[in-house]
Amino acid sequence: TQQSQEELLRVLQENQNFRENGKQEEARFIVVSLSVQPVLSLAERYGLDPESATRKLAGHFRQLGADMILDMTAADDFSLLESAREFIERYKSSQDNVKGQIPMLASSCPGWVCYAEKTHGNFILPYISVTKSPQQVMGSLVKYHLTKYKGLPPERVYHISVMPCYDKKLEASREDFYNELKQTRDVDCVITSIELENMLISQGVSLNDVESGEIDRPFGAYNKEQSDKILWGHQGSGSGGYAHFIFQYAAYHLFQEANTTVEFKNLRNPDFKEAVLEKDGKILLRFAIANGFKNIQNLVQKLKRGKSPYHYVEVMACPSGCLNGGAQIRPQDGLQPRELAAKLETVYHSLPLSKPEENCVTLSLYTTWLEGEHSDKSAAFLHTQYHEIEKMNTALAIKW
Ligand code: SF4
Repeated sequence: TQQSQEELLRVLQENQNFRENGKQEEARFIVVSLSVQPVLSLAERYGLDPESATRKLAGHFRQLGADMILDMTAADDFSLLESAREFIERYKSSQDNVKGQIPMLASSCPGWVCYAEKTHGNFILPYISVTKSPQQVMGSLVKYHLTKYKGLPPERVYHISVMPCYDKKLEASREDFYNELKQTRDVDCVITSIELENMLISQGVSLNDVESGEIDRPFGAYNKEQSDKILWGHQGSGSGGYAHFIFQYAAYHLFQEANTTVEFKNLRNPDFKEAVLEKDGKILLRFAIANGFKNIQNLVQKLKRGKSPYHYVEVMACPSGCLNGGAQIRPQDGLQPRELAAKLETVYHSLPLSKPEENCVTLSLYTTWLEGEHSDKSAAFLHTQYHEIEKMNTALAIKW
């Protein structure tokens, strides 16, 4: 039952028992991190606008006994900034002929990362970005900074993340994200959009009828001018906008091209897109977004033959990316999955935009938590590593 709704309900029940029996000190401090894609999925399912859905989910988790409800904008922005800086370093190393640097391949999709580890071994791993995904950055932030701020040991906190796919459970279960000394995981339990819908249904509750609650802001507002906004998006794909952000960042930091317009155009199919930065007839940057298994296979084959023309690829296992994640709520009213994903993409792009380089919380956490942007602490908490794994005979392989 690890990583399941049963485990979550058991922990919530245990906590309630401790509190009712006056054993407050044995209860765990329950933190819920909401990522944006499941919120949009549930908003669509219950006909709510994104802000109302976020507040209703906050209210629901509070009723269940959660102590703190967080959104993940700070973690999203850490992942984007660290990925962009990693790209600059890799690009420069590649100019010095260091092998295995470029193309840099995104690492925030555990479906893709596990596939790469299991099928392509050491060949592909050097190309995969070492920046942690937002879920795991959030795990570090909650277990190793929020706990200090709250005066709690990490193992006293039970950290739940709400995610669009089951593969995020695999990611949270990786040894790399388990602290043996403290006997605790950075993310204890991943609950998906579908599981959350099922929990509501089994409790006979409609999200529409849940009393709204507040999102906690333990580190302050992201943006002083729009401090009342509670759900944020990013430019680019609904999978987090990696390719878009890193493209603009690299255009500026490598080629002094400020405010570049980024346009990803479909190439071959709607799940493979490409953007190019060109100057004086010379291509400076060539980025791609590859969603879905077929496009990933093509990319890997090209890479193996030394024929990949890209500097960076945002690789996501699900067709249409995370808004169409494997555990997002199924389409209603005869809608096709792609139509639903397109609908969610439109809503995603209507959200206020977070700008990672201007996010007050992320910037201040670099100082108060991480001792600077290029510190050992930043590397320890924001980066990870990959491992070649024996050939595929797992459930994941069957899925692929
Ligand atoms: Fe999960 Fe799919 Fe997004 Fe990958 S693309 S992180 S498998 S939802």
